[in-house]
Amino acid sequence: MKPDVVVVGAGLAGLSAAVRLAEAGASVRVLAKGVGSTHLGAGTIDVLGYDADGRRVDRPLEALGGLPAEHPYRLVGRAGVSAAIEWFKGRIADGPRAPYAYVGDAEQNVLLPTAVGAVAPAGVVPETMVGGDLRGGGRVCVVGFRGLKDFFPALVADNLSRGPDGVTARGVELDLRPEGRADPNALAYARAFDDEGFRAEVVAQLVARVAPDELVAFPAVLGLVSPHEVWAEMEHRFGRAVFEIPTLPPSVPGIRRTSPLANRSPSTRPVNDEDRPSVRASSSLVQTSNGSRLRVRKIALRASVSARSSWSSNIGSSPTVRLRAECPPTAWEPTRVAGEGSPAVGRTFISTMPFVVQL
Ligand SMILES: Cc1cc2nc3c(=O)[nH]c(=O)nc-3n(C[C@H](O)[C@H](O)[C@H](O)COP(=O)(O)OP(=O)(O)OC[C@H]3O[C@@H](n4cnc5c(N)ncnc54)[C@H](O)[C@@H]3O)c2cc1C
Repeated sequence: MKPDVVVVGAGLAGLSAAVRLAEAGASVRVLAKGVGSTHLGAGTIDVLGYDADGRRVDRPLEALGGLPAEHPYRLVGRAGVSAAIEWFKGRIADGPRAPYAYVGDAEQNVLLPTAVGAVAPAGVVPETMVGGDLRGGGRVCVVGFRGLKDFFPALVADNLSRGPDGVTARGVELDLRPEGRADPNALAYARAFDDEGFRAEVVAQLVARVAPDELVAFPAVLGLVSPHEVWAEMEHRFGRAVFEIPTLPPSVPGIRRTSPLANRSPSTRPVNDEDRPSVRASSSLVQTSNGSRLRVRKIALRASVSARSSWSSNIGSSPTVRLRAECPPTAWEPTRVAGEGSPAVGRTFISTMPFVVQL
């Protein structure tokens, strides 16, 4: 089946464009050569955090008027920005991790801790992070895990205490290692938090170590499959606000927000074997500017969308990410994965990636 539209790029922009087009009735194919920032970013939607002079923005919608006339936000207008945000929130709230949801809007930014304890403005954020809005100050207990080398509770706490007015923080570290791994990353901890036994162990080790007036901050690993349930249980067990702070990549909240876009559509159908020969039969190899070879298929299109942000153009440049989607970018299967089987890019890693990776 010939798609009506090819979308190039499978980041948030490409996936959103593809799903919206599919919702409007178009058949869409998404092509991309890497995963972009979806698995790196903190998972927040930073509508407008800083103005052109680098000053922090508190009210993004109001600040849009100060942007250059050709800025995309000016072109779509305030109503368009707000509508896009509501659409995105709806996709997440209605997605496979429901009732996990995003909160906030473009009217007002919150101020959240970053992975190193700086603070950054964000507009629309996972519900699991909003308790970390530091505009009102407060005392924070930053919890880390000795095995998780991508998150340093003492550093985060120290930086937070130097940052916004009225914030004091301290770090505590738990010695819990999921999956018996010597070097677990954020994904391993997130999968562990999906397990009731692991959560009980965390609470048992931590409950006596937090002061009554402290908020509890965890690295953003509170569940990959059921983040709402994990976060709600932690709030219940500790009897106070619990929130996630982003980690270094891989970003669990980034992955959580991607799959509803890549996964969900009523008109999804899996790619089957019959599809592939027809694609290959009419494809040809071209040389790209960076020297890699790309297989392309000549197709007549009604439209195309380019959603390739410049910074990530070379990420994943060895594998070609290719989402075969007759409607939305949802059905995928790896046919060949560069590096599969190696310790760095094993099956577990690939199974959490939302894309087809093939050459
Ligand atoms: C470390 C990091 C953290 C960030 N954190 C946040 C955050 O918390 N909140 C926030 O709002 N923003 C964050 N950002 C900014 C983020 O990049 C954007 O908000 C947004 O995700 C960009 O989405 P995108 O779809 O435009 O681009 P990307 O996610 O970069 O996607 C681009 C896509 O195009 C593909 N592509 C590129 N070139 C080609 C080509 N030649 N052929 C085929 N495919 C190609 C890429 O492989 C990729 O799939 C962060 C950025 C970085 C780097």
